[in-house]
Order: sequence, then structure tokens, then C-alpha cells
Amino acid sequence: MLDVARSFCPLEELLGIIDAMALYKLNVLHWHISDDQGWRFPVDGYPDLVSEDRGYYSRDDINYVVSYAEKRNIMVVPEVDMPGHMIAALSAYPKLSCTGGPFVIPTGEGIFQDILCVGKADTIAFARKVVDTLCSLFPSPYIHLGGDEIPLDRWATCPDCQHRMQELGYKDEKALLGWFSNEIAAYAREKGKSTILWSDYVDASYDPSIITQVWNPLLGKHKRFHSNHQVIKSDYFHSYLDMSYALVPLSRVYRYGKSVQKDRKQNTKVLGAELLLWTEYLNTREKRESHLYPRLLAGAESFWTKDSKLSYTRFKRILTHDIQLVSDNQNNVNKPSIWDPLLLEQIKARRARKKRVTANSKEAGISL
Ligand SMILES: [Zn+2]
Repeated sequence: MLDVARSFCPLEELLGIIDAMALYKLNVLHWHISDDQGWRFPVDGYPDLVSEDRGYYSRDDINYVVSYAEKRNIMVVPEVDMPGHMIAALSAYPKLSCTGGPFVIPTGEGIFQDILCVGKADTIAFARKVVDTLCSLFPSPYIHLGGDEIPLDRWATCPDCQHRMQELGYKDEKALLGWFSNEIAAYAREKGKSTILWSDYVDASYDPSIITQVWNPLLGKHKRFHSNHQVIKSDYFHSYLDMSYALVPLSRVYRYGKSVQKDRKQNTKVLGAELLLWTEYLNTREKRESHLYPRLLAGAESFWTKDSKLSYTRFKRILTHDIQLVSDNQNNVNKPSIWDPLLLEQIKARRARKKRVTANSKEAGISL
């Protein structure tokens, strides 16, 4: 998953990432193409969503990316997160919100109160138009419609949302959210697309054809794995490559494949796993590459290699050569000392312990 909403990723860099994916057999690009901080593709009838200054991909750009990826056997799955993560759209079209705005496009990370107003017919029409656009641009049988981090406060005080709830006979806003998600997924299904949603709110009331992406395994105490829904694994402590190497060291990404393979053996609903690069703080190519590589390679090898054949020692040995193949900024990326800070700490601590034992034993007069 590449987040091009928080930081815009120029086309040339994006194609380079696709090349690297092809080289390492990563076969799906989940393209996070809108969020609170930016809307990156044109939608007919809503010209103000994009602007040259903020950066976006034209239809030609998107067609080029899709066919470039297709030639390399990579499927591009677009994501437009809704009904939350919508400030960039609401700042251009405040009438799609509950309050009417005005809104300012934020920078940095955050979860924002203002979301799509699902009580307004105009907003439902907008959401459908977005799905139409994604269906026309992306041949993938899947589309990702987000559905995470949705504060429901605005809906609780919005006359339109409350009216919609009454009409449908719902008692709380969570049920209204389920209705919206099912409606939009049904609309996508009519167009031949399966919908993927982040697992945050997905429960038995959601259409079983919806695929869930589990990013926080602590949410719902793993119950998502026993539900009717198919699952994409992307546990943030193993696969969020925007995190520092201290939090998600190379060795931990490499270990993730083992747990994914174990889950797949136990549960046929686990489709596979994903590595993710959120870009709230990765606003230069150099930063993005130093976070992607070599962890992208570790994930690729660990996802595809039979668990009995996995060897982190061997993987590290061949790495220095390999990252030269995938990154232009070798000087920044090629620093083995940063790849695995936890492991380095353990090695240092072991050395220190050995010294202490030697010193103690001398004092005690014992020869080791
Ligand atoms: Zn509303």
C-alpha cells in the first residue's frame, strides 16, 4: 500500500516502486489515492477536488500506471476511504458534510470529526460517482473503500443523518454506518467489484462479500478471523513501513511471513498479507525510500518463501547487493546499522554481559 494522499508521489517515483515490486514478486499495489490531506484523481462533475498546485494524477497518468503495472503482473487496487478521511473533498465541496463547513485541508496526521453526511442525497450521489470513476479507471476486480476511523459525533447532531436513521428504523449511528457501507458495497458489486474495508467496524451486519483488512489485531480480539469475511493481514507492528526501524526492525518484517503462512494454513479466508507505507511524515523521496527499502524486500521474501526455508541470516547477506537494484538513493538506504536497531542492541548487551562475567569471575578467582 502506497499512500499518495498525505504526500504526493511523483509518477516517475511510483513507476520505480512498481519495478521494485515486480522484481520481488509483490503482485498487488494498493493505491491509497485520497485522504483528509489530499485528493489525487479527477472525478467528473467535481472539478475542484484536484488542483495542479497540490498534485494529482490525470486519467492518462492513471491509465499509464495501471498498464505499466499490468505488464509486470501487478494488479492496482485503488482506495478511496469513506465516509471518514474526507476533509480534502469536503474543503472543495462543503455541502457534502453535515455542518456545511468551511474546511481547511490539514497537514500531518489526525482523525478528523467532519465526515461525509450520509443523510444527504447529494452525498450518496457523490459516493456513487466516486465508485463509478474507480470502476472506469481500474480493471481490478477489487476496490478498497476504507471505512476506518470514523467519528460519529456529527451524524448524532445532523438533522439529515437523524432523518435517514429514522427512515431506516435505526437506533444508533453505528447502524447507519453499516447501512452506508453495505449500500456502497452493493453498488460496487453491481459493477462487478468486490469491496475491501478496513476491519475497524466490520461485523456480522456487514455483507459477507466484503473483504476486511486487519491492521490492528487488537481490535475486536481477533474475532475478525472467525467471521464470515475474507481477510487481508496487515498488522501494524509488522507491516507499517512508515514506522521507524526501532519500532519495526527489518527482522520483524521478515518474521511476519511465518505468522501469515500459519494463519493461511488454519484459515482459508486469509487471502494474504500487505506491507504499507503511510506518508504523513515521509514527504521526500529519500525518506520514503529509506523506509521502504530494505523492508519491502524482507516482506516479499518472507511472504513467498516456505517457512522452513526462511533464513534471516542468509537474507541479510544478500541484501547489500539487492538494495542497489531497487533504490536510486543508495547512500541513504544502504546503512545496515539502521536496519535492525533492536538486534544491534541485543548484540551489544550480550557483549557487555560477557565482559561483566569475565570481570566478576576474576574477582572471584575462578578461571573460565
Ligand atoms: Zn449528516
